[in-house]
Formats: sequence, structure tokens, C-alpha cells
Amino acid sequence: MSQILDGNRVRDQIKAEARPQVERIIAHAGRAPGLAVVLVGHDPASEIYVRSKTKTADDLGIYSETITPPAAIDTAGLLAIIASLNARPEIDGILVQLPLPAHIDSQKILLAVAPEKDVDGFHPLNVGLLSTGRPGPRPCTPAGIIQLLRRYEIPMAGANAVVIGRSDIVGKPMAMLLLHENATVTVCHSRTRNLPAVCREADILVAAIGRPAMITAEYIRPGAVVIDVGQSRVTSRTEAERIFDPSRLPDFDLKGSLLVGDVHPGDMARVSSAYTPVPGGVGPLTIAMLMRNTIESAESRTGLYSNSGLC
Ligand code: NAP
Repeated sequence: MSQILDGNRVRDQIKAEARPQVERIIAHAGRAPGLAVVLVGHDPASEIYVRSKTKTADDLGIYSETITPPAAIDTAGLLAIIASLNARPEIDGILVQLPLPAHIDSQKILLAVAPEKDVDGFHPLNVGLLSTGRPGPRPCTPAGIIQLLRRYEIPMAGANAVVIGRSDIVGKPMAMLLLHENATVTVCHSRTRNLPAVCREADILVAAIGRPAMITAEYIRPGAVVIDVGQSRVTSRTEAERIFDPSRLPDFDLKGSLLVGDVHPGDMARVSSAYTPVPGGVGPLTIAMLMRNTIESAESRTGLYSNSGLC
């Protein structure tokens, strides 16, 4: 039987650890850690993500505010908002919800966030800190995966880790964090030759592709640990029949869609030794790590501790 790596459980542990940290900051600095979320326009998925981020912040006693400029705002207007947030002492973390509208220069915006308030860890300076193994905020999704692997005592040192996907948000930082854990890391992408054979070398296989259930049994070495980062919605019944156990189809018919990862759920459960389900695996960790990055930024900015930020 393959072990389920329960992201909700690890999220709850991280949140439980965060509460006393918040209390220590309030006792020391006379204020709560502060998080500002910039949400441009009315993308429904982004609105849902932002709501769950601010709700988690509230739950932990972190001050949060959401700035909602209209979709028509230009790059200069958004830069002015970022500059004002950079200047506010009670704001420890600034998060710009992606994706931004196409007419906005996203790179310019991410570069404008003060690196010490960059709780997403996307600023090039923080990417450099990660790459050279120096303390700093780490991108939340891959940092959450490291927490999960550690807490389930999955050995990383010396393991062959294969990461599929090379995005700045997930794939590349994931590879770097696994490297810092002394794994032997291979990064794959859309031009990788013979992907199934490369993936079958993995003791730890991380799929961050964005293609529903693309990774089937032929990609998974029996006994491997599989981390499924993907989050896609399946809306075609034929696709649903390929992907899901027949017992899930009534649910699909009722809702008209189901959430799926990059890994075929049945194959993953059958072939791996441990895996993250979708939903309930990687997803819950990202927001928990965002809170942790905000707290560490507040600890550092209020002089309580310097940012340990090693993961
Ligand atoms: P992305 O920026 O679109 O990157 C996808 C990566 O997958 C690219 O590097 C791409 O290769 C590679 N790829 C695409 N098709 C491939 C193929 N057929 N074979 C091999 N590699 C292929 O996506 P992302 O932002 O990293 O996100 C990936 C997935 O994770 C999405 O489903 C997203 O929703 C999910 N996600 C989940 C969380 C969470 O909290 N659970 C957080 C972030 C993202 P090229 O570089 O060659 O194009």
C-alpha cells in the first residue's frame, strides 16, 4: 500500500508553529506581522486564491490587506502602489497575485517589490540567495514540498530526484532546494528526450507541468515517492473516464469537472511507495509557507531574529 503524504496535516503543523511566532512578534514589536496582497482586476481564480490567503492570515493573527486596482491600471500605476507598500513600515510582506493582465510588465513589477518584503521569493536577488544557499525567502510551493518530505522523513540526501517542469515559480526553485538537501537532481522540460526513461530513474519524482494526468505508470519507478504539483480541471467526460476510478464519475457528472494533478491518480497510488494526492497534497502547503515567509520577514524587520530562511 502506498502511503498518502497528507498536505493538510503538514499545513496544520506549520500553522500551529506559526501562532506562537506571531505572538512573539506582537510582544516584541507591538504590532502583528503585516501582509499586503495586490490583486489586479477580477480574475475569479485569483480572487479565490487571495481570499484563502487573507483568511489564513486572519486566522493566524497576521494583519492583511488587499489592494484591488482595476484591470486597466498600467505598469506605472502599479509601480506606484508597490512603492507605497515598500515604504510602509508595518507591511512586512508584499504579494502580487499572478498572472497580471498582459499589458502589464510583470518582470518590472516583481523587480520593484523590496527584496526584504518579497514573501513569494520571486525577486532576482532572492533567487540568487536561494541559488547560493544563503538565507532568504524561498518560493512557497517548493519550500512547502521540502517541509512535507522532511516531516514524512523521506530521505533526500543521495536520492535521485527528477523534477519535471522548469518554471521560475516551481520547477527551478524545487530543483535548487532538492540540491541543497543533497539530492542528485535532474530537471526535465518539454524538450527532454525519452522523458519516461529519465523519470523512471527517480527515487523522488516531482511533477510540475500543468498537464492533466500526463504522468502514467510508465514514468514511475516502482517504490518511488511521487509529488504531484499540478492542478488542472478536467471537463471532458472521456478524459475523466481515462483518469478517474469509475466510482468518481458520478461526482464528475454532478459537478461537470474534477480537479486533477499532473500524475494519473490510480497509477500513482499503485506504483509509488508514497505520494501527494490532488487535492490535499501540495496545494495546502503553499499558503502555509506564505504565512511563514511573512512571519520570518517580520521577525527580521522588527529585529527579533534574523531570517533563518533556509527553507
Ligand atoms: P508553467 O510555468 O506552465 O511550467 C510548466 C513546465 O512544464 C515548463 O517548464 C514546461 O516545459 C514543462 N512541460 C510542459 N509540457 C511538458 C511536457 N509534455 N513534457 C515535459 N515537460 C513539459 O507551470 P507552473 O507555474 O510551474 O505550474 C505547473 C503546475 O503546477 C500547474 O498545474 C499549476 O497550476 C500547478 N501549481 C500548483 C501550485 C500549488 O500550490 N499546488 C503552485 C504553483 C503551480 P518548457 O519550459 O520546455 O515549456
